[in-house]
Amino acid sequence: RRNSTGSLAGGAAKDNAGVPGRVRVAVRLRPRNAEELVEDADFADCVELQPELKRLKLRKNNWDSDTYEFDEVLTEFASQKRVYEVVAKPVVESVLDGYNGTIMAYGQTGTGKTYTLGRLGEEDTAARGIMVRAMEDILADVSLETDSVSVSYLQVVSLKAPYTYMQLYMETIQDLLDPANDNIPIVEDPKTGDVSVPGATLVEIRDQHSFVELLRLGEAHRFAANTKLNTESSRSHAILMVHVKRSVKARDSAFSSENGNSPHMKTLKPSLVRKGKLVVVDLAGSERIDKSGSEGHTLEEAKSINLSLSALGKCINALAENSAHVPVRTARTSLVITIGPSPRHRGETASTIMFGQRKERLKYQKDYMDSIKKLEEQLVKNQQKNGSEKVPVG
Ligand code: ADP
Ligand code: MG
Repeated sequence: RRNSTGSLAGGAAKDNAGVPGRVRVAVRLRPRNAEELVEDADFADCVELQPELKRLKLRKNNWDSDTYEFDEVLTEFASQKRVYEVVAKPVVESVLDGYNGTIMAYGQTGTGKTYTLGRLGEEDTAARGIMVRAMEDILADVSLETDSVSVSYLQVVSLKAPYTYMQLYMETIQDLLDPANDNIPIVEDPKTGDVSVPGATLVEIRDQHSFVELLRLGEAHRFAANTKLNTESSRSHAILMVHVKRSVKARDSAFSSENGNSPHMKTLKPSLVRKGKLVVVDLAGSERIDKSGSEGHTLEEAKSINLSLSALGKCINALAENSAHVPVRTARTSLVITIGPSPRHRGETASTIMFGQRKERLKYQKDYMDSIKKLEEQLVKNQQKNGSEKVPVG
């Protein structure tokens, strides 16, 4: 049984990731930690990986298991380098070509989302994660005389709300590079559907070192903000946006002709600008998602919510391949789902694996969008009840 992607084993990573609107899904198993090695020593892992077949078996009991297929199956022995090459590199390459790309990690807290995406790897360069490696590839490919690379780093947090479905109802966007800036609006281009956060700090990157420093600063702010708000970082989504702007010289453009006197040359602009954006999302721990619905939130609480234009909503949309809501026509999306081996977390692992299946993501997307709609309706009702209150609904 193939999953909906119809990917062929052995196909080059680029083949799949290069298809617009198509999500490439990899699963990564983290090794047992010290505690699991000791306490679960007598128990088998809850999964068995068959990387050559791109299959994962989820144990049901001692005799039986369910089989799932992925675009890529990364065992506990997969290096950070290999994970980068499989999950991220094709997306980064398309960003360098001027497209938008998204890389997301989804999984239970403690399964390696941040390890996979955000590890700085200063003590051990082999341990560098996707963000750092992506920037290395980007900086190696651009010329900073003519091109520019800049980043913003944000987190989507929920304030004092109980755990709610994807933290949607109390969602605010905070600038991790300027934490006082904690209610950033999101703007959607009506023509392209592209989402931007014009209020966010945008820092130009000149070298790898300053980028790593920014990531470190962002993480420190994330930690401090979550301590202050009495939330956990596992309840927030961290979003890194990398903007790559390149000047494409006329002679490099597809329109150029061998014959410099070609009549086409008259209409050729001296240079073109090509813009690509890479979005890397470290999602909140999947165990935090509960479908408690939109009841019970006050209008006051709801006022701080940026509703239908949620960046995360856009990302969730992008996860549902072939959806009409994919933010831009040329978006490339790569999803890595992270799982732990412990039989204790079999239930969570099972639901994470399900998320790797397209059908489930479509359902997840529908639930997410339905919950936005439901809340909007509720807000409108509240507004009608109390006419003096103004609610900034997207
Ligand atoms: P998450 O962000 O999903 O909550 P983390 O990335 O913080 O999880 O990982 C939890 C712990 O497991 C960390 O101590 C991390 O170093 C370790 N870890 C995660 N993935 C791996 C891996 N593939 N190899 C070695 N250690 C890992
Ligand atoms: Mg984490």
